[in-house]
Amino acid sequence: MRRRISALLLTLIMILSFVGVTFIPYVSSCADDTIIIAYNEDTNFIHYENGIFSGYGVEFLDEIAIYSKWHYKLLPCSNAEALKGLEAGSISLYFGVSDMNSLGNNYVISNDSIINIQFLLYTNPSDTRVWYDDISELNGFTIGFKSDSALRDKLSEYSEHEPLDFNAKSYTSYAILHQALLDGEIDAAACSSLNAFSDCKLVASYGGGPYYALTSKAHSEIMSAFNAAYASIKSRTPGFMNDLYTKYYDSKPISALPLYTRQEMLYIKSHAQFNVGLFPDNAPLSYIDSDNNFAGIFPHLLRRISQISGINFTPVELDNSLLARAQLSVDIPLAFGIGLSSKDIIDGSINFTLPLCNINNILVTSHNKSIDFSDATAIIPRSQYNIYHYLAIHYPNLRINYCETITEALDSVYHGDSDFTVVNEYVLDYYTKSAKYNRLFTDWDFDYDEQYVFIASPSTDSMLISVLDKTITHLNRTTIDSDLREIREKYQYQRTFFDILHTYSSQIIMFICLLSFIFLLLFLAIKDRALYKSAEIKAAGYKEKAEIDYLTGLSSYSYFGEQLGKLLRLSRPGSYSLTAIHIAKHHLITTIYGYKKYDDIVKYIADIIRNKMPELFGIATMYDSSTFMVMLPSASNPKDLFGENFLNEVAKYPIEHPIDIYVGVYNITDTESPAHVLYEKAISVASPSGGNNESHYMVYGSERDITLNHERIILDNIDRALRKEEFSFNIQPKINLDSGKIIGGEALIRWSIPDKGSISPDLFIPILEKYGFITRLDLYLLNSVCRLLRSYLDKGLPIVPISINLSECDFHMTLLAEEIVKICASYGIEHRFIEFEISEGVYNEHNKFIYAAVNNLRKEGFKVTMDDFGCEFSTVNMLKVAEIDDLKIDVRFIYKSDINNRADAIIRKIAELTSELGFNLVAEGVETREQAEFLKEVGCKVAQGFYYSMPLKLEDFETYMKTNI
Ligand code: C2E
Ligand code: CA
Ligand code: CA
Repeated sequence: MRRRISALLLTLIMILSFVGVTFIPYVSSCADDTIIIAYNEDTNFIHYENGIFSGYGVEFLDEIAIYSKWHYKLLPCSNAEALKGLEAGSISLYFGVSDMNSLGNNYVISNDSIINIQFLLYTNPSDTRVWYDDISELNGFTIGFKSDSALRDKLSEYSEHEPLDFNAKSYTSYAILHQALLDGEIDAAACSSLNAFSDCKLVASYGGGPYYALTSKAHSEIMSAFNAAYASIKSRTPGFMNDLYTKYYDSKPISALPLYTRQEMLYIKSHAQFNVGLFPDNAPLSYIDSDNNFAGIFPHLLRRISQISGINFTPVELDNSLLARAQLSVDIPLAFGIGLSSKDIIDGSINFTLPLCNINNILVTSHNKSIDFSDATAIIPRSQYNIYHYLAIHYPNLRINYCETITEALDSVYHGDSDFTVVNEYVLDYYTKSAKYNRLFTDWDFDYDEQYVFIASPSTDSMLISVLDKTITHLNRTTIDSDLREIREKYQYQRTFFDILHTYSSQIIMFICLLSFIFLLLFLAIKDRALYKSAEIKAAGYKEKAEIDYLTGLSSYSYFGEQLGKLLRLSRPGSYSLTAIHIAKHHLITTIYGYKKYDDIVKYIADIIRNKMPELFGIATMYDSSTFMVMLPSASNPKDLFGENFLNEVAKYPIEHPIDIYVGVYNITDTESPAHVLYEKAISVASPSGGNNESHYMVYGSERDITLNHERIILDNIDRALRKEEFSFNIQPKINLDSGKIIGGEALIRWSIPDKGSISPDLFIPILEKYGFITRLDLYLLNSVCRLLRSYLDKGLPIVPISINLSECDFHMTLLAEEIVKICASYGIEHRFIEFEISEGVYNEHNKFIYAAVNNLRKEGFKVTMDDFGCEFSTVNMLKVAEIDDLKIDVRFIYKSDINNRADAIIRKIAELTSELGFNLVAEGVETREQAEFLKEVGCKVAQGFYYSMPLKLEDFETYMKTNI
């Protein structure tokens, strides 16, 4: 009986759900009105074929319709018909108008344009009478236009300052016009960029502009909906329009020939050959083959450029990527094969072309576990200077060794001497064809790619760069990419006898595999069902992995973002809140207790957060290394969950140093803003706000948030550290290499936390720099140094100049030189006894005020040293501009892997360069006698480093000075 009732119920439910599924959408779609959207067929961004609309405009409108909930129909018509329709109300929206002036004020246009177009003029590709931008040469030409198009008037307008006398001819469609040009019926033809004639020669681009959507004033509510939808697209998917444009228009070249001007053509004709520097040992990109010629991918690309431009390149050898830029000259105007970093792009002193290609770098390890960058050893081939630089900046705790060749690096990883190396995808491809390296693992998630450009010497003619840029643009990404893919195959590793052995062994393995496969099939036949089941479970596991962060067990960052987007899209403002939970001073925790402990603390807090979640329908993630982010529906009060109780629970974690947590809450009212803006709002209030307990929890926009003065509070803390003398300094002697006597010293800051020991300046200086506090510290140090020198003078001791490090932020202080002069005066210290070291990276910013500030210091009689030369991207050009006294190099960096001829050659070159430019060379980080002797030989006068002395406590420095002066 019971069975029968449940069967009946089941049937009923099925019938009901069928009715629901079938009718509910129908009803709702009938409730919405269908919008008629007119478009002009000429524009070529909506196509109609076999009953189907497609193209840029259609995808664009489909996306709009998602937000505005429109059902729309497309109607092709002429400009005049569309305007009439708008007025009569039979058309709701006209999609694609450019000329607004003639419309009158009965219409409203969209806030933003929907696409930008250009007007283009083409000639036959074989026509040599006219080149790009050569408009005056068009006199007497017969130019074809599509009938009734505005392009004809625009051309007359464009050439007004240089009146153009042309005969116009009309065609009914772009296809016929195009054919007429190819057949030689006309000399030139005009079209819009949406209809580009990619097999003809582009000779002018004359005007154009944005296209908008239009409606009549009477229907302005349609435009409001359109604008709102468009704004949402822009904030939710900022790349949408760009991607769409690329998809429909960027794949076709705009011209059959590069856009060379007449002068450029003449330049190419008169300069048929240029030397180009290439690296000789960077296979398969560029290397010297058995016939002693350059071979590889880069020479191939150079040939490509020659074919198109007519310029011939002669490859010449570059020594080393570190000094490649210094090697460029009138004889070698260009180098190719140096990756470009963002630093170069900011630095105005380097000339470079557009990128030819992007090349990915890949991390290579001997095991497939993830790398702990805070405790790993990397090995980097010397030719990969950019990678070295990138790693050193991003992973300060990483140990990085240099080696000579790529094989050395791969061997070191293979034998487990290093944890990983980084090489680019082409190099990897080339070497891993060898059986041996086949067993290495690669991590493609390592996200560092480089743009490969031509780099030019400062004396290189800008005409050459512009010709190269135009050729590169013309070659375009897709051509180069398919080129690269094709030639990649050619540069394979040459197999050795061992490799062949290995190949056979793999066949044996294949045979065994085959046997086991047969067994497996048998097994499967029996266990089929059970296996199927477990596969299902596994698939579910993978999905879960992507949604869950493995360390904390909370949602993964990307899953959290997705959910946030989804929920906000469907909800009203104020329905959700974001709570940021920030672990303050986490750098201190990792420094004192290590990363393992810190991970444990993070897990502990994550557990507490997770335990609060199930009742709530909220979601949480680890936002960054020190912040959790929680999203809650507004029904639940974050204060109940993450207020005092939560803080007390966290405080129970067994550790001497209290864990300082700050909770910031943002009630999401601007659901339109991109996610990162919302996160920032919550984070901005998850920070220290004063002494009392309450301040560990704050709501964005609340009264206390607004009156909060973060800067003052952090400054107060620094004040305390300064007052309590938690900062001190050491002095490292500088030695005269000829006499072996001390001739100066460098003051180096030290911070020691009572009972905990000292923290390396490399850890806290970047933080102080970030918040701009470093200036106070540097001036404090200057004060202390002056006081020390005063005390020596008072005791009747001889003194030596002491140098002080300045940071970039120091130069933001307008009266820096004045302040420094004041401090020296208050202790009566002569300016020649105080020197300043400024890192090369600071000069690299093309901020003119730094040069001016340095000049002010030098005018006052202080010596200025450029510190760490060669650690960033130095350019000789920069040295010419910067007015300095000394140049300091860190030989530790250059000698990273043992002494060898390369490092020597680099140092010798720098020594030559400095003496040429009239600077003194100071070598730092000198650790061995060999280094000291070599430096002496190349003419370096001053050295500093552990070989002579460690940085000394003040009492030790005094003794050292007395005995070594
Ligand atoms: P820096 O200016 O390049 O200072 C030289 C660093 O190299 C010092 O590290 C010094 O102890 C270390 N060093 C010197 N000789 C040798 C050697 O032979 N072998 C090895 N392995 N190391 C050597 P320290 O003291 O850790 O300072 C690190 C950086 O922090 C400094 O680099 C400097 O950029 C910055 N810094 C230190 N004190 C101050 C300061 O008062 N103000 C500012 N703005 N920056 C500072
Ligand atoms: Ca220094
Ligand atoms: Ca240095």
